[in-house]
Amino acid sequence: MPSLEGKSAVVTGASSGIGAATALVLAREGAGVVGGARRVERIQPPAVALELDVTNPGSCERFLQAAIDELAAVDILVNAAGLALGRDLFDESTEDDERTVLETNVNGLIRMTRLFLPHIRDGGYIVNIGSIAGRQAYEKAAVYVASKFAVRGFTYALREDLLGRPIHITTVDAGLVESEFSRVRFRGDAETAGKVYEGVDAMTPEDIADCIRFAVTRPPHMNVDEIVVKALAQSSGGRIVRTET
Ligand code: NAP
Repeated sequence: MPSLEGKSAVVTGASSGIGAATALVLAREGAGVVGGARRVERIQPPAVALELDVTNPGSCERFLQAAIDELAAVDILVNAAGLALGRDLFDESTEDDERTVLETNVNGLIRMTRLFLPHIRDGGYIVNIGSIAGRQAYEKAAVYVASKFAVRGFTYALREDLLGRPIHITTVDAGLVESEFSRVRFRGDAETAGKVYEGVDAMTPEDIADCIRFAVTRPPHMNVDEIVVKALAQSSGGRIVRTET
């Protein structure tokens, strides 16, 4: 029997990359899945696609209502919506980019968690997608690094606040994953984005979805606090050994 038969899951950032792969894996394991993103038309069935902009409180509240109408209650919340903008020295940073990254990765994730927490059934799971950028800084990524350190801090603090309650919480901190992440980071510049994955066997969104599946299918008495995974040829966000291409 699929391990998540009868369970329900909500995945943010379900239109691409890690969130899209996670929605598919959880559905394959038997869960009813609602996926949210701004590009709602890109969310693949069997997930139910609902529009969501995590930076917009009204959008988040509408998403919550529609998700609860669909699922009644939630067993698994995966906060995968996120982004980086630019790969420059902090001197080049702008107010707009800082606001977008922090609103999406930090405030958005916190907002979704606050809204969904009262609807998470006993035994449920919250999985936050952090990053190795939230564990070890690398150059030319100051605001993204700050946002992911904040995600890890929030996850640790929520673990404390949830202690004694039957809700699991996990941060999944990945290194290099080939997705649309770099294309977004380089504002649509596919050539520069492609170089990020050249000469290195990057992880796939499915690899990370499998980590999430692991976290939410352990025995109920067990909490997977943190999962940290990197490409084999990578020791940090800033150190990757590439083969000549
Ligand atoms: P991706 O392919 O670009 O997917 C990002 C997802 O986030 C998309 O579905 C996007 O949907 C959604 N999103 C962005 N802004 C949003 C908003 N305001 N409201 C709702 N959804 C929003 O990148 P990814 O690699 O899967 O990234 C997913 C998460 O993994 C991010 O938190 C990222 O920081 C983290 N991560 C990525 C890597 C990596 O190397 N790729 C490594 C470690 C951690 P719409 O644009 O349709 O709204």
